[in-house]
Amino acid sequence: MSTMHDVIDPSTEQAFTSVRGTTVDQADAAIERAHAALASWRAVTPADRGRLLRRFADAVDGATDELARLEVRGSGHTIGNARWEAGNVRDVLHYYAAAPERLFGRQIPVAGGLDVTFSEPVGVVGVIVPWNFPMPIAGWGFAPALAAGCTVVLKPAEITPLTAIRIGELALEAGIPEDVLQVLPGKGSIVGQRFTDHPLVRKIVFTGSTEVGTRVAADAMRQVKRLTLELGGKSANIVFADSDLEQAAATAPYGVFDNAGQDCCARSRILVERTAYDRFLALLEPAVKGVRCMHPASEEAEMGPLISAGQRTAVRSFVEDAAEPVDVAFRGTAPDGPGYWYPPTVVLPRSDRDRVWREEVFGPVVAVMPFDDEADAVAKANDTPYGLSGSIWTRDVGRAIRVARGVETGNLSVNSHSSVRYSTPFGGFKQSGLGRELGPDALAAYTETKNVFIATDD
Ligand code: NAD
Repeated sequence: MSTMHDVIDPSTEQAFTSVRGTTVDQADAAIERAHAALASWRAVTPADRGRLLRRFADAVDGATDELARLEVRGSGHTIGNARWEAGNVRDVLHYYAAAPERLFGRQIPVAGGLDVTFSEPVGVVGVIVPWNFPMPIAGWGFAPALAAGCTVVLKPAEITPLTAIRIGELALEAGIPEDVLQVLPGKGSIVGQRFTDHPLVRKIVFTGSTEVGTRVAADAMRQVKRLTLELGGKSANIVFADSDLEQAAATAPYGVFDNAGQDCCARSRILVERTAYDRFLALLEPAVKGVRCMHPASEEAEMGPLISAGQRTAVRSFVEDAAEPVDVAFRGTAPDGPGYWYPPTVVLPRSDRDRVWREEVFGPVVAVMPFDDEADAVAKANDTPYGLSGSIWTRDVGRAIRVARGVETGNLSVNSHSSVRYSTPFGGFKQSGLGRELGPDALAAYTETKNVFIATDD
């Protein structure tokens, strides 16, 4: 029996539409259709597959405003962010549209014949998407998968299905054949679980919590499925006293409060060299108070509401409802009234064992702590099971490189807070994930290497 899932506008707390969840039988039928579509999708010539992906990118581009408005309403993303997110899907499609014609194998010198390798599509790929970035995370999975010749079944998060459903329609309108990209809204325990259990799904791309991701991985391994995992984070923003402190403080809020802190790359721990600690906090306060948290449809908005009432309860459990006392240094502002609002908040942990310092909050809360020297900074940054992103602020190039090499994390930026570019690899060390998405090598995650030896001896 299928169930309806309400989609709630996080800015008003009102349900404005509902989406029918996919049943187990429907998921199985879709997986079987995706499998049946493999042969014909693979047979599309490389140039034509590239052309179709470019048309798909153009269709997304033409629908940028529509997709952005859906994301504002259905997920509470600011309109500026939502436009960027739709644009990112377009760009990722364009980037991988070049790949079908560049899916090179190798010719390896051997005795007695010719040895060549082929990059074969893995088969049906199941993409499981979280609610925090419904569009980009979907695109990072389906674009390289389609380019590699795979077919895709994609499950958006239960509470944020609208943009993925629309992107699935745009694919068909652009000429991507039926059943090559199918969007299956519904519950993780039903649809997502079928992806991990159904033998015709050969690869899982999972983005979400470390808790669910480790279960998905264990289930997928029973059939030795290929796996990419993008999981949680507790990233550090390391600020040295020799840095441009004004710039470091002015940008720090945007390194953590973007998307209301519901960002796996959020720099939710700020480590400041002790000699600059007081000055940095003094500069950070006006920067945090200046964050424009308001209705996300406003062109002025820099931060919107949290995704749900449950998420707000979870965030509060780290601050006002925490079991241990938590010292709030200062806060920004957020609207009153309906909406899952939570103001940008800066806390000063009493110890590096505090929950707010150790666990992913996934909300607009940042913890600030001093460090003594370079070694202490690296040790504190690495004292976490996660390793997704991070930032380093210093004017000393040698130090920037030493610290970047020392921090155990997949994506670092020096004197900036950028993590994601479609042309560079993205992914985590340690419990933040497995494998890399985006960049020049992502195709390898959707292909199997086949080695063929052809005897030439008489
Ligand atoms: P979640 O783990 O609760 O859910 C993620 C997805 O998995 C959803 O689509 C959900 O329906 C599905 N799911 C749930 N149970 C399943 C099961 N048994 N089998 C298969 N699928 C199942 O995560 P969330 O709350 O949606 O997202 C927040 C988390 O995602 C945070 O921890 C965040 O750090 C992480 N995240 C990581 C990245 C990254 O790239 N590393 C990016 C965004 C979000």
